[in-house]
Amino acid sequence: MSRFLTEEQELIRKVAREFTENEVKPRAMEIDKANDFPFDLHKRCGELGFLGVLFPESVGGLGQSFTTACVICEEIAKEAPGFAISLFVSMAAPTFMLAKPELAMKYVPDLIAGNKVCCTPITPPEGSTNHAEWGVFGKRDGNDWVLNGTKLYITNTRAADIFICLGLTEDYQMGCWIVEKGTPGVEDNHVERKMGCAGNNSGTYVFNNCRVSNDNFIVLNMEGDVGGGNALCASVALGCAEGVFAKTLEFVKVRTRGGKPLATKQAVSHRLARMYAQIEGGRSMLYEATRLVEEGRLQEAKILINASKYTVTEMAVDVARQCVQLHGGMGYCEDAGIARYLRDAMGTTIADCTPDLHLESIAFQLGCPEAEMPC
Ligand SMILES: Cc1cc2nc3c(=O)[nH]c(=O)nc-3n(C[C@H](O)[C@H](O)[C@H](O)COP(=O)(O)OP(=O)(O)OC[C@H]3O[C@@H](n4cnc5c(N)ncnc54)[C@H](O)[C@@H]3O)c2cc1C
Repeated sequence: MSRFLTEEQELIRKVAREFTENEVKPRAMEIDKANDFPFDLHKRCGELGFLGVLFPESVGGLGQSFTTACVICEEIAKEAPGFAISLFVSMAAPTFMLAKPELAMKYVPDLIAGNKVCCTPITPPEGSTNHAEWGVFGKRDGNDWVLNGTKLYITNTRAADIFICLGLTEDYQMGCWIVEKGTPGVEDNHVERKMGCAGNNSGTYVFNNCRVSNDNFIVLNMEGDVGGGNALCASVALGCAEGVFAKTLEFVKVRTRGGKPLATKQAVSHRLARMYAQIEGGRSMLYEATRLVEEGRLQEAKILINASKYTVTEMAVDVARQCVQLHGGMGYCEDAGIARYLRDAMGTTIADCTPDLHLESIAFQLGCPEAEMPC
């Protein structure tokens, strides 16, 4: 049993591992190539309880912690990091609705059952954390809000039924508006071709006088926010590194040079040893951070989540790059299914928050003058 997990979390890991091996692995290459949202796998994640892992039992969830959510994402990312990115958005985004119980009761059960898909339009053209330059997204008009603005790089765009939009109000509060697909004033016909993290029809929405009832509005209080999205993104990166490492370890034990496996060459075996150490270091850091969240030590958790998202995602890029190299020409060909891990690992460094901005946030928490807290 892992030193980080409870017996229950280990059981959930086992379910996630079996699902990944039996149902995700055979589809992983196709998901990456086609870039279509795998509705059937999303539905299975609902049936297995994964989508409701962070929700209380009162709305049909499993009432589990961030650690459990990370374990699930980590397992799935071993075979399909792009799908795991989509999954973490589906797991985490609806938690904003818990601030308004009537909204949670209305939307969450269908989302966590996998009957519906959500997305989180947040990033405007001015920059995702550049709040000082953000325009007003939502203006109050009677009992409605009128939304205007462009949101980019949105995971799950074309598949989504429910858009959980974040932006500024006229009095510069961070607001969250729940918009149903088909609401007039949302143009969603632009699909983006991301470098990796395929399988979620990522794209852009343009909001043009989109009218939403005040019932579907929440003022976000980010005070208790420890950066759960960043922890989940780090868990995808961890699984991505583990998945490509396992495939590479297998490969260098059978690929020969001069009649002996590549793994007998010290230059290779030491690379493997270094990668193992990098992965285990990342794992310790991430699950220590989620343990701190569980213990309610939020300030300590926040800085460690920033540090682990920075460390684990950069580590995943480094590990994936080395694994491509160790596969030689085959690694550089998409058909081997190795190169996609490098593309996906790059995505984890940018999704949610970038490496330099994590460093900025850590510097802020260390008390460095003039540092900001963007993530
Ligand atoms: C796989 C993936 C999935 C995504 N999913 C979603 C989604 O579902 N919804 C959504 O809204 N967005 C999504 N995004 C967008 C993502 O959150 C943003 O791209 C990311 O947060 C960076 O913001 P930006 O693109 O605006 O870059 P910018 O903020 O413009 O940053 C550009 C560069 O400048 C650097 N920089 C900025 N400020 C500073 C500073 N003060 N000091 C030093 N360096 C600085 C950054 O580190 C970065 O390297 C996704 C992106 C990816 C890759």
